[in-house]
Amino acid sequence: MRLFEAIIEANHRAIAGDASAGLHPADFADSLPIAALTCIDVRLGPLIPEVLGITEADFIWLRNAGNIITGPLSSTMRSLSLACAVKGGKEIVVIGHTDCLVCKTSTMQLLERFKNLGIERHVLPENINEYFGMFSSERQNVLKACDLIRHSPLIGPKIPVHGLMLDIATGKLEWLVNGYEKWATMGDKWNEVVQSAGQTVDKLKSFSDFKIGDMKFPETKIGETVTKAEDWLARKVEALQFKPMEAPPVESAPPTAANIAEGIVEFAEKHWAKPEGTPRRAPHPPPKIPVPPPIRVRVNPPKWKK
Ligand SMILES: [Zn+2]
Repeated sequence: MRLFEAIIEANHRAIAGDASAGLHPADFADSLPIAALTCIDVRLGPLIPEVLGITEADFIWLRNAGNIITGPLSSTMRSLSLACAVKGGKEIVVIGHTDCLVCKTSTMQLLERFKNLGIERHVLPENINEYFGMFSSERQNVLKACDLIRHSPLIGPKIPVHGLMLDIATGKLEWLVNGYEKWATMGDKWNEVVQSAGQTVDKLKSFSDFKIGDMKFPETKIGETVTKAEDWLARKVEALQFKPMEAPPVESAPPTAANIAEGIVEFAEKHWAKPEGTPRRAPHPPPKIPVPPPIRVRVNPPKWKK
């Protein structure tokens, strides 16, 4: 059982009244810490560690109003990216919550609140809803955030990206986006790319010294593939900026079609996990004795003042 499968199972068992439901974080050491993005709502402060069943030492907690991702290179994306690359985050989770005020506040109400703070409409950005990330569905907002994170060049394909919805009244977690499934899908896509790149290398070796910039192959698949490959590689190089040593050597010499494609294959072999049939993580002997008591999942939050 993987980390989030265990989290969800323990949460649902606790909801069903099983007082012994809990998680042994030590069993999931390979998946910890996680990077979690939540809303700034103060009710989430004590609740999130309890419903996840892991201690605050085991997750890197990012918060913004409405747990919003505004773009693949946004400020929050930057923090999520560094949470994984620098702080060792193994999985990402976006946790939306019910009764979110970013969702419930209308534009008129928002303007009224600003006015009460002495902030007039004309000093606010014109696209006020877009700027403040106001959304109309908490669930859609989580789905959108997960999609942006999954496709951001700043997040490696090996990092599962999950989406949860927390019912703030009951403590129940709903698993909206299963990052393990997405991961498998990405792996399949990657295999296609690698295969395509391999064929490209073979085909293009006959065009020695052929420069990408000069490439004009109207209506040819090779041209399309290489152009896509070049775009893709450019994005990957950008994504690897904090690890320049591992970037494929495309800047030292003018890129040729063949060496771009070779770069892709090399990159794939180096960075992408092996496809199905190969264990994702090195199995580790379970150091289970003595077993500490599980961290109980609490699902009956105290009544909060709004
Ligand atoms: Zn909220």
